[in-house]
Amino acid sequence: MRRSQSSFSVFIGFVSPDFTGEDLMSNNESLALQLVENIPGHVWSTDPGGRFTYVNPSMRAFFGGASDDALSSWSVEEWLQHVHPEDRHRVAAKWRHSLTTGDPFDSEQRIRDGGGAYRWFRASSRSFRDSSGVINAWYGQTIDIEDQRKAEDELRDRSVELSVLIDMVPSHLWRLTPDGTTTLVNKRMADYLGRDLSDKSSLESVMETIFHPDDADAVDKELGRCLATGERFSMRYRLLRADGMYRWMSGRAEPMRDQDGNITEWFGLCHDIEDQVQAADALRRSADKLARATQTANLAQLSASIAHEISQPLAAIITDSDTCLRWLSTDPPNVERGKFTAKRITQVALAAVDVIGRIRALFQQKPQARVTEDVNQLIVEVLDLMSDEITATSTRVDTDLGMSLPQIPIDRVQVQQVLVNLIRNGIQAMDSTSPLRSLRIKSCQNRSDDVRVEIQDAGSGFADPNRVFEPFFTTKSNGMGMGLSICRSIVESHGGQLWVANNETVGATVAFTLPVASAGSTPPDMDSLERPLL
Ligand code: ADP
Repeated sequence: MRRSQSSFSVFIGFVSPDFTGEDLMSNNESLALQLVENIPGHVWSTDPGGRFTYVNPSMRAFFGGASDDALSSWSVEEWLQHVHPEDRHRVAAKWRHSLTTGDPFDSEQRIRDGGGAYRWFRASSRSFRDSSGVINAWYGQTIDIEDQRKAEDELRDRSVELSVLIDMVPSHLWRLTPDGTTTLVNKRMADYLGRDLSDKSSLESVMETIFHPDDADAVDKELGRCLATGERFSMRYRLLRADGMYRWMSGRAEPMRDQDGNITEWFGLCHDIEDQVQAADALRRSADKLARATQTANLAQLSASIAHEISQPLAAIITDSDTCLRWLSTDPPNVERGKFTAKRITQVALAAVDVIGRIRALFQQKPQARVTEDVNQLIVEVLDLMSDEITATSTRVDTDLGMSLPQIPIDRVQVQQVLVNLIRNGIQAMDSTSPLRSLRIKSCQNRSDDVRVEIQDAGSGFADPNRVFEPFFTTKSNGMGMGLSICRSIVESHGGQLWVANNETVGATVAFTLPVASAGSTPPDMDSLERPLL
């Protein structure tokens, strides 16, 4: 093997000042020789025409332990015979270009080992010029990058697979930066919107024009709130489809956090619920019609039975009054018979009062059996009962149920009725307002002797809070106006209090207390009614 002394000097970056002259030179040379002979990579040199002048043991071993002389005199062409046919032309062109121009040579290619197997290598070579600037050698190294290429290929395959998945998944996906800039909209969503979002600026500005004008502010506000607080985003809104139609969508987004809990990205998903909304509307319209018909029938039935119950004693009173008058009008007046008839009038009138009392008792929901109950459990049961209605109206319900609340003696069916009524009122109050349908139910121990429940909505708020407890007061076309007054009667019959308030910003809160002991409770402290969070 021919070893060029100058070939080793390129590996020496510095020398110790303690070494000088020949000692220094021989020390450097032996160190350099040791280094290149043992380095775990291919190190080589060629003459200016590309014929090998040196190859290190690692390279010789790769080519099946070819002899020094055989390998060290390979020409470019001989070396290229070991390069994979698909890479050969490209590498040969590059190497020849470097030999001709002196430009650095860098390339990646598959090289066949002594056993016939190909592996990926990265080869780099630099020219060495003499003092007059003429190239007299090339020094190079070839590093095995097979594992790295495999990992890169796998990564590339995986990312292709993922982007196909993201584009094909039957839902609309998007991604935002922590400050709300859109960085990804999947193909399905871009197609739905009919937008070309291939360039950065159209992607970043896509959210500005796709929302229905009536929803845009609410979406902006809610998204801003979620970005600021890190809370989950969930709301319904209308999006402009490619055909120019606005359609209802249900959108959700969750933040992704790093190990320190900082939000790094937001991932969102939305799907078209227009058909579902239309179906739910149709269903609600039919249910409303049915409810109206039932209410009318109930009211007619109730009026008929009240009329029936009252008209009987009234008819008896009229008859008895006539009889009484007749007895007293005879000559002489029959006072005894008159007194007897007057007594009967009193009895019949008392019976009528009793009938009215029974009807009032019906409306006041006189308490039945009281059992000690967990109010939180009752709330969970009611939400379960109403889950269809909650889902159909896409209402988000957040609960904040106090820990270790005392059990209280209640008529569970009646208190359930109260909860159903108040939750339904809250849901209905959000029908005509914002697309953000959010209901918050909170329970806590008010004072030592009361459990308090609050139902807070983001709806229209009370138009006239002073009138809502008047029987038959309603602002709904299909309302009966009895719900709140019945709820209040039930709560008061338990010794509690029920009251309403409009929230500071949006919506209303209805709260009630139930005493821990079955005795009456203290009056509600209106100022302590927690202000809404929305
Ligand atoms: P109904 O629901 O049949 O109208 P209610 O007695 O339950 O009867 O309610 C009376 C009125 O009070 C409703 O028509 C509505 O105007 C108002 N109301 C009740 N709950 C709410 C609420 N959560 N937000 C706004 N207004 C409400």
